[in-house]
Amino acid sequence: MLPFRRKIFLSQFLLTGLFGYFFCSCCNVKRFFWAFALYAPMSGWILYRITAPLQRIIDVVISLKEEELPDAIAIDQSMFDGEFGKLGGFFNSLIERIKKQIRRAQEQKKESEEILHSLEEGVIAVDTSGVVTFANGTACKMLQISDVNIVGNSLQSFHFDHKSLTQICHELIQQVLQTSEVVAWNWSDSEKRTCHLRLVGTPRSCHNGMVLVIQDKTSDYKMVEIGKDFIANASHELKTPITIICGFAETLQEHPNLPTSMVQEIGEKVVRTSSRLEKLIKSLLTLAEIENVSLEKFQMVDLVSLAFLCKQQFMYCHPDISLEIEVAHSPFFIVADPLLLELAVMNLLENAAKYSSHPARIHLSIRKENTFALLKVRDEGIGIPNEDLPHIFERFYTVDKARSRKSGGAGLGLAIVRTIIEKHNGKVSVVSELAKGSTFTLAVPLKTI
Ligand code: ADP
Repeated sequence: MLPFRRKIFLSQFLLTGLFGYFFCSCCNVKRFFWAFALYAPMSGWILYRITAPLQRIIDVVISLKEEELPDAIAIDQSMFDGEFGKLGGFFNSLIERIKKQIRRAQEQKKESEEILHSLEEGVIAVDTSGVVTFANGTACKMLQISDVNIVGNSLQSFHFDHKSLTQICHELIQQVLQTSEVVAWNWSDSEKRTCHLRLVGTPRSCHNGMVLVIQDKTSDYKMVEIGKDFIANASHELKTPITIICGFAETLQEHPNLPTSMVQEIGEKVVRTSSRLEKLIKSLLTLAEIENVSLEKFQMVDLVSLAFLCKQQFMYCHPDISLEIEVAHSPFFIVADPLLLELAVMNLLENAAKYSSHPARIHLSIRKENTFALLKVRDEGIGIPNEDLPHIFERFYTVDKARSRKSGGAGLGLAIVRTIIEKHNGKVSVVSELAKGSTFTLAVPLKTI
């Protein structure tokens, strides 16, 4: 199709031609030839003044329709005066406004998508027919489908078995689309039960599809499991000494005439069991206290002075044990809670003595490695079997229950050490060889907490 201006010019030349032809045929040819020669460019110029802005406006409107907004000002107002100038100005400001709104909408869309992609929850939006219109990175990872494949498709189109997460999501989406009500389901991978998810489908307003949010609840489930295990273990550990004490107390009550030697023996057992019970309760309280420790107690601590202080206390209780200290340099400052750190080191020293044949030989060293201060406690004791190594920092874990119980332990000492070091953003590790000895390493960051 011819552009608007060309059409107008063509019509003008045709009309001028006709006008000239009729005049020439019935009047003085020479005079009207001059009139025609003057009329043609003048009318052309007038038409140009009228049609140029109109053509420009039409061009701009067409480009708007094609979603190609011009970058610069669309209509040069200085070129045109009067009404066309005003119309051009109106178009310019309209285009500027539209451009601004489009830019804002694009920025908002980008921002919303960035926020949605950064979420730990999976988010999937579907339209009324169940076709996915948006899926964030977490959702794609959870469903193990790439975002290129998922958007624009229904979840039904993916290959899955009847209990897979994709299938459950698809069923939930269908239910929400049919009922227009919020639907919330729990899902666990049936075999290993290592992953627990909560799926919440919410209908969008105006029957505009729905949004599915997938929350990973695995750590919550784990915490609940750990809590349950802890309560079961703590109850069991507390029950045993209480049962023993009750048993002895009943014996004394039912047999008041027991020989003195027996009464003395029972008394000794009651005292020993009570002190074990007290130690256990203290350890449990210590664990709870460490969990709630305040950062205000953290201060600059010289690790070397702390090690010598521990040695002093330790040698007071175990005078015939050999404890060597080796330090790379002195002083050795870190940010820590001195009392907690002392408790961790003392626990390691006590274990080194407890699990070595008497008299134990213990070696404590302090050195720097990258951004960490390393404190190692090495003994030449019984060592730890390989299969137990991954578990020894767990609460209530003991390699040899009878031996631990005999020495008054309930498997909480190393759990306390780990909790203390984790509070310092550090790590605890162990290497051990049966019958050769063990080395426990506390790695604490040199500056940051
Ligand atoms: P417990 O109070 O029973 O000693 P811990 O939490 O301190 O509990 O230690 C857990 C288990 O780790 C112990 O039962 C023991 O078998 C093992 N263990 C800890 N330290 C050592 C060590 N230095 N040498 C050998 N075994 C150790």
